[in-house]
Formats: sequence, C-alpha cells, structure tokens
Amino acid sequence: MKESYKKLLTYIVYTLIVVGIFTLLFCLGKNESFQKFADKIEASSFDLRQTFIAHHKEANKDIAIVAIDDATYEYIMDKYGSWPISRKIWADMINFIEIAKPKNIIFDLLFIKSNLNDVESDKALIEAVKKYSNVYLSMNFDNYDDRVRKSPNLDDKLKLKIKKGELADNQFITFQNARAIMKELSSVTDSIGSINVTRDEDGIIRNLTPIFKYKGDYYPNLSLKVVMDLYNVEEIEIKDNKIYLNDEHIIPLDNTQRAILNWYGASKTYEHIPMWIIIEAQKNNDLDFVEKFRNKTIYVGTTATSLSDIKSVPTAHNIAGVELHTTFLNNVIDNNFIKKVSPEANFIISIFLSLMVGYCVLQTVSVLKTIVFLCVTLIFYAVVSVFAMSHFNLWIGIVLPYFSAIITFILTYCEKYLLRSKDYEQAYKMAVTDGLTQLYNHRYFQEQMINNINAFKRYGTVFSLILIDIDFFKKFNDTYGHQSGDCVLKQVANILKKNSRTSDIACRYGGEEMAIILTNTNKEEAVVTANKVCLAVRNNKFILADGQKVNVTISVGVATVGENGEKPQEIIEYSDKCLYIAKENGRNQVVSEVS
Ligand code: GH3
Ligand code: MG
Ligand code: MG
Repeated sequence: MKESYKKLLTYIVYTLIVVGIFTLLFCLGKNESFQKFADKIEASSFDLRQTFIAHHKEANKDIAIVAIDDATYEYIMDKYGSWPISRKIWADMINFIEIAKPKNIIFDLLFIKSNLNDVESDKALIEAVKKYSNVYLSMNFDNYDDRVRKSPNLDDKLKLKIKKGELADNQFITFQNARAIMKELSSVTDSIGSINVTRDEDGIIRNLTPIFKYKGDYYPNLSLKVVMDLYNVEEIEIKDNKIYLNDEHIIPLDNTQRAILNWYGASKTYEHIPMWIIIEAQKNNDLDFVEKFRNKTIYVGTTATSLSDIKSVPTAHNIAGVELHTTFLNNVIDNNFIKKVSPEANFIISIFLSLMVGYCVLQTVSVLKTIVFLCVTLIFYAVVSVFAMSHFNLWIGIVLPYFSAIITFILTYCEKYLLRSKDYEQAYKMAVTDGLTQLYNHRYFQEQMINNINAFKRYGTVFSLILIDIDFFKKFNDTYGHQSGDCVLKQVANILKKNSRTSDIACRYGGEEMAIILTNTNKEEAVVTANKVCLAVRNNKFILADGQKVNVTISVGVATVGENGEKPQEIIEYSDKCLYIAKENGRNQVVSEVS
C-alpha cells in the first residue's frame, strides 16, 4: 500500500477511535451511576480550583458580620441566663448600630411567633424594625406536613415580582410549608427573604437558590431581596437561565436554578465583629466604636459551633451559615458568580484535546515523549481551568476532557501497535518472497526443507520435492529478449501456483529454476503433480512483452524423502540428477528415478 494512503487510513481509524470514545462517553453519560461519579469528580475539581484561587481574591470590605460566636454565647448565658436572648437586646443593638447609618442590617436569624411572656421585648423589636427601613428579616421554607404545623399564607408584599412570559420553562425549588416571622413584624416591614440553603449530594454547599416557589408564588432569597432594594429593582427579569436585576447585575443560574457561588478564603473573608463587644460598647455608649458600621452592610448571624449553623463549602469545612448569604450578596455586587461552560463547549474542548493527544502518539516514536506530552497537556489544561475560573469566573469541565484524552492516549497506542504488527507482517512477507515471480524465495525454500525434514524425522510425515528448469531458456532470452523471458518466468510461476495445493510450497530456486515442496506427498502422488505441471506448461500459450504467443516447455525432476535421502542436500541432489536425466532424454518431461 502506498505510504500516503496508509497514513490517511491511519488518521481515519484514529478519528474513528476518538468519535467512538465520545459515543461511549455519551452512552455512559446516560447511566445514572456514571453521571453521579463524574459529577462528584467534577465537583471536587471545582473545590480544588476554588480553594486555590481563594487566596487571590478578597471579600467586599463593605460587608461585615455581627457574629454570635462562642464567646458571645458564653457572655449571654452568663449575663442573661438563657438562649435565645430577649428581643429587647436585638432592638437595642439595631438602635445602637443605626447611629452610624449603616447601609443595611440583615438578620440571618428567625423571629418566629410572639413571645407571650415578654411582650415588651417583642414590642421594642417591632418598633426598631418599623423605625429603620434598612433592616431585613428572614423566613425559612420547609416541607413539614400540615398536621405538624399549619402552612401559613404569606403576605402579598413578600412575593417576588417577575416579568411575565419568561417563567414557563423554569422549574424552581418548591416547598410545602414555611416558618414565617411573627405577624407583628411582617406587618411593619416587607424587607423579608428566605434563608434556605441547599446542599449538593456530597453535603457541600456550592450554590445558593435565589428564588423559591411556595403555594404557587415565587419568593426571593434574603440577599436577593437586599440587592433588589439596593439597585431599586421592583421586578426581576429571567431570560436564558439568568436573573437580570439591571444591565450590570446579572445572576447566572445552573440547570437546577441555583447560582454557583464564588467563594472567599478563610483569611480573606468578611470582618467578623463579635456581638458581645457591641453590647459592651453600647453599655458604654462608645460612639467611636459604632463608627465602624458606617455605610456598611451588616449581616447578623450565628457563627458559634454550639449553635450548629456550620456548613461545608468548597474552600472550608466549617463556615458559618451566615457567610453563604453574604457571599451571595457579594457575588451580586461584584458580579462575579461562577458560570459553568455549556456541555457543548466542553464536548468540543474534549474532542480537541483528544485529537491532539492522539496525533502526538501517532507521530512520536518515543513512548516516554508521548507520556510527557500527555502529562504536560493535562497539567496545562488544569492551569488553564484555574486561570479561567480566577480571571473569567468560568467553570470549564475537567472530567470529560481528561477522561477522553487519557482513553484516546491508550486506544491510539493499541492502534499504533496493531499497525506496527501489520508492518512486521508485511516486512516478513517481503523478506521471504521473490520479487519477480511472487513465489517464495531461495532462503524460505531452504528453511522449509529443514522444517519438513524435521517433521519427517519426528512424525514420519513424507514429503516430495519437484525441481523445474525451463528448457533452452538462454536461447529463448537471446531470441525474444530478457523482458519476454521475465514474462515467461512469471507465467510459469502462476502455473505452478495454480497446480499445487495450498499446503504446497512453490519457490523460485534460482534463475529460471523453480521448486515445489509437496507436503504429505509420496513419490507416486508427486509424479502425478509433476506431470500435471509439465503438461500445463506445454499446453500454455505464453504471451510475450510484445503480445506474441509462444510455447515453452520445462523439464522436471522428482525426489521423495526417505526413499531418496534424509537430508535437504541429498533430496535436492537427487531431484537435480533426475532433472539432468530429463534434459538428457530430450527435455519436456518428468523423471523421478535415477536408474
Ligand atoms: P537448458 O534447457 O539446458 O536448461 O538450457 P538453458 O538455456 O535454459 O540453460 P540454463 O538453464 O543453464 O540457462 C539459464 C538461463 O536462464 C540463463 C539466463 O539467461 C536465464 N535466466 C536466468 N534467470 C533469468 C531471469 O531472471 N530472467 C530472464 N529473462 N532470464 C533468466
Ligand atoms: Mg537452468
Ligand atoms: Mg534451463
């Protein structure tokens, strides 16, 4: 086969391999357990990338957390003797912080039901919330049965306003029940949002749900409520799996209608101000201290391990729940949510990587070099994926490209070795074949003589040899030319092939002499074959180079192992003697006995 065709074929096979891999992956992708396995690895790779880039980005300095930390819990138990604390303390804290005019005070805490034993305290909180329009409160959806707790009807003003016509395709997380806040509070404020969070299968929180469905209506997440007010957005728009607050602030959603958060590292996160310090400052009316809240967005939430609002996120295993909502808010303000690259784009990247790796394997002789190339490609891709996340907030897939590149690498190697063994086969065939007649060559003939002698000695299998010489060939060449002589040689060789069995070995012995080793054949049968060949040549019209048709004859000598010798040389000599006698007797005949 021509070298260029062979190369073309190689690349076709190799492209088929790559396409085959993707078909396989596509089929596997429909398998639920494989999908789960792939998602798990992809999620872990996301965590790694997030942890890596978290060192380079900082949380927004305008957001701070008032932390009900372990020390605050101890302080409260010591000073007031119970938890939860009187709502008067929250009211006092709001009034104190509001001196510095913060942007917002947002409670990641629930104020559920009125406290009949402490009506005054409830009143103080209601008054504070009523007084300041920048205080936000939480509610929480759940799926309790109506028999456990009656599902409340939520006030119309808490509902999220969405521009019509865009929601039909979107399926949002739906809840059956809710823990809304005390009626008196919801009657004085509509700044209320949900603090529900959803974990991934492995228990880690990577996303936040901005919109929930309850009793057929939509409700905002607490931070979504805050940013809507921040940017004076009355009504949101949902288009192409994105929530549009305005032209600049867009929340991308994944296929579960959640926003993938961009996390901050433990050392670069929000400022935490322990609540007990604020209570102390307030007691001392420390107006210098309160200045630190000026213009800031304050989240109030528990960070105490004893109050168990601890979550696992990609960058840490123990982050306070309040940080999830602050991160969501931060991501909206900085417009840096993580966007997942589409499956189609991942597919194209994977095909490209696989083709590159496969091409390198086919082109490179050194195994070590191809392994190095594969490793460098995968490392380079990992670096690109980290860069894409840190600079463009893009989550490009790792599992599919890695998986397909590695499988392509292995399969291309298999294909390469398969082709190489075919090359060996071809080279071997060329090494044992005579170029002109396409019969086996002299070396192969000698090899087969030895093999057959060995088989005869071990198992007693008889074989015969017929030796053929074209009559007056020198004269023939002189008359018709060397080229026509070659034509005759080829045609005689074809006659030999046609008149022998597949188990027989027809060879060019040398010059215009040919031989056939007839396996499992005694003298009698060998003479029959020899006569058949002799007759076939005699009756054949040989076509010469110029189209002329002529007759040619051969002389044949026959020898059989055992009867005429037990060594290759003895058998060859015997058949040669017979051939000599045939020539002597007038040529164009078979001789099988030396008299
Ligand atoms: P004889 O009947 O006694 O065999 O007479 P001959 O002329 O055939 O004698 P011999 O076998 O000694 O001659 C061999 C000739 O075969 C010599 C050479 O010209 C010719 N010959 C050998 N190899 C080739 C070949 O590859 N091509 C051609 N055209 N001729 C060849
Ligand atoms: Mg000869
Ligand atoms: Mg001859």
